[in-house]
Amino acid sequence: MTAGATYFASRALLPNGWARDVRLAVSPAGDLVECRPGAAAQGAERLRGAVLPGMPNLHSHAFQRAMAGLTERAGPGDDSFWTWRELMYRFVVRLEPEDLEAVAAQLYVEMLKAGYTSVAEFHYVHHDRDGSPYGDPATMSERIVAAAAGAGIGLTLLPVLYQANGFGGVPPAAGQRRYVMPTDAFLALFEELRRRFAGRPEIAVGVAPHSLRAVGEGSLAAVAEASRVVAAPIHIHVAEQVREVEECLAWSNRRPVEWLLDHQAVDRRWCLVHATHLSPEETARLAGSGALAGLCPTTEANLGDGIFPLPAYLAAGGAWGIGSDSHVSVSPIEELRWLEYGQRLTTGRRGVAAPRLGSTGERLWRAALAGGATALGRPVGALEPGHRADLVVLDEEVPALAGRSDDRLLDALVFAGNANPVRDVMVGGKWVVRDGRHSREETVFARYRAALERLMAED
Ligand SMILES: [Zn+2]
Repeated sequence: MTAGATYFASRALLPNGWARDVRLAVSPAGDLVECRPGAAAQGAERLRGAVLPGMPNLHSHAFQRAMAGLTERAGPGDDSFWTWRELMYRFVVRLEPEDLEAVAAQLYVEMLKAGYTSVAEFHYVHHDRDGSPYGDPATMSERIVAAAAGAGIGLTLLPVLYQANGFGGVPPAAGQRRYVMPTDAFLALFEELRRRFAGRPEIAVGVAPHSLRAVGEGSLAAVAEASRVVAAPIHIHVAEQVREVEECLAWSNRRPVEWLLDHQAVDRRWCLVHATHLSPEETARLAGSGALAGLCPTTEANLGDGIFPLPAYLAAGGAWGIGSDSHVSVSPIEELRWLEYGQRLTTGRRGVAAPRLGSTGERLWRAALAGGATALGRPVGALEPGHRADLVVLDEEVPALAGRSDDRLLDALVFAGNANPVRDVMVGGKWVVRDGRHSREETVFARYRAALERLMAED
């Protein structure tokens, strides 16, 4: 019996901090109905280590997992974000629906084993290889849903609107034909996905206007309004690259985040992915808006994007979460470590994420839980009644965690060692990882390997 069960944790991270002897009761639907510290273990299944809420991953392009490590060779000229994007376009040309599902399923299994229990999928490959819509326009979205359901990870599906190849409506390039969609077709897809997956507690649907480069003012307004009336999450890439800021200034005389805040009622439903290049005014305004900064430190490092102004953003009360984006790393530990280390390297200070007294690791973990849950628009990220029973049990026998209690445990988790201490993982009341193994990992990996062979074959 995995649903409708009661568990006992000798210690667990509750909303108010670490608690001892915690009874966690889960409804048959997979929701937490009781999280009581100081309780007896009688009649409950004992969890085999310290328990954390599972981490939401707020930004993923699943198919890019199949490209991780392939873009590290120097090309002609400067090897930059823009040459990486060219390779990504060549790769995506071949992707069939079964390939997308195979790659996404492999990725989601890896996420679960690393402690992510839900993901926001920023999904933009909608059409067939020649750019024509599939008979069912939701064909590729269905593959993402199937991959998530098969792996057992919670999903916020964010169909992406992509219409232009630069500010001011530059026509899309041939390599972008699988993404491009008229606004009315996009809004119909959004409604259809909401209808199809209503009543599935592991799935939410939001929208993702790709970026200010790719979506014009009128389309952005239409999509924002469609999401507002149903209170759905809205995610957008913004200010990732210096060149993007320069092009936005040339087009509008505004910086990208400044333009967005001037033209849209940005609030906590919004997740601004990257937002790396901010002026001090933008930093303060973004923090004050309640929107999330969607930080993807390992991808941002891999692509050479730059460093997010975290100290000023935190000082202004800004909220943030983490995403693994291009999946050069699939580990919440590594995202949080890189976030803090990037700040230390540029500021010459330690504990940047925890400017006041206390544990840096715990502050990082808790902020990413809260921000990620908001960005995903699902009741996750907390061991609290009414939230999904998404939890991670840590193996306290790994050397890096031995003898570390409470917030020192999270400092050790984030900053000490390379072992993955995730032992067991539950999503929506169901065990998906036990003793570090996912129940379907062999099947999923065999399909992934076959898909890679197709994708990597010489022409
Ligand atoms: Zn992205």
